[in-house]
Amino acid sequence: MGTEVSVYLWSDDAESGHAALEAVYREANRIDRLMSTYKDDSEISNINRHAAESPMVVGDELYALIRRSVEISRLTQGAFDITYESVGQYFDFHERQKPDAATVAAELKNIDYRFLQLDHAARTVGFARPGVRINLGGIAKGYVVERGVEILRSRGISNAIVTAGGDSRLLGDRRGRPWMVGIRDPRKDGEVAISVPLADEAVSTSGDYERFFDEDGIRYHHIIQPATGTPASGVHSATVFGPDGITTDALSTSVFVMGVDKGLRMIAALPDYESIVIDAKGQVYFSSGLEKPSAEASE
Ligand code: ADP
Ligand code: MG
Repeated sequence: MGTEVSVYLWSDDAESGHAALEAVYREANRIDRLMSTYKDDSEISNINRHAAESPMVVGDELYALIRRSVEISRLTQGAFDITYESVGQYFDFHERQKPDAATVAAELKNIDYRFLQLDHAARTVGFARPGVRINLGGIAKGYVVERGVEILRSRGISNAIVTAGGDSRLLGDRRGRPWMVGIRDPRKDGEVAISVPLADEAVSTSGDYERFFDEDGIRYHHIIQPATGTPASGVHSATVFGPDGITTDALSTSVFVMGVDKGLRMIAALPDYESIVIDAKGQVYFSSGLEKPSAEASE
């Protein structure tokens, strides 16, 4: 997935602590091999090649994530849509490559989660038409951090953070105090815009500064508006907190695409999830369930 995974944990015993770290990194690699579209022989690449010909039987884990992705698509009215890849495959941020207008127009016809035909009993995935492609980049890192924390917990660790790119899962607290999770300033490298105290929660941030290039004053980045097939604009970063990292990962991408108003309204309807959005003017917005940090409140 081209992402760094980091683990921070407390262990009374150095040896078992290191072994736990190794186990999490191994798991992240295993999931990457399953879900990376960069790897020609991954299960997901195989689905992309053949699912339009006939439904493909998919392994339990991948099936569960695809199924969850479609649920989030319904919840977000298509803002989250793993078939974005039909257009997404033409972007190469490293090489500063983007699809031309004709390609976007042609491939836009292949973006719609309703083209995914899931059979829960048979665990098969089919594509309703050729040209459809899927990519789990907007949800797979949430799965990595959830699995990471599960592994640590099973090894008796009770205070840790597992991070993959913009997604973190906190296990317990920072030994009696909350973890302070920083939300990056989207336009100042290395600076933190807001710090939030959290324990035992997942937190995901989607930003237009992770993978991008600028051309003619336009930022071409990795979060695609499924309705247009082009990078979503209006928001610089969207952060979502809540109990489950798979959900916060998908929802942070979703809020980024939906924008401040629609995104925060969607979050307000989910009692367990909260959000902080930084828009293109640098303005910070909080979901209704969040208390504003005291510095702001006293202004
Ligand atoms: P990050 O990779 O910075 O943590 P995200 O969790 O928002 O950020 O994931 C962005 C990734 O999600 C993109 O690199 C791409 O793989 C995928 N993606 C882009 N647009 C969409 C979309 N509209 N719906 C679902 N996934 C998307
Ligand atoms: Mg995400």
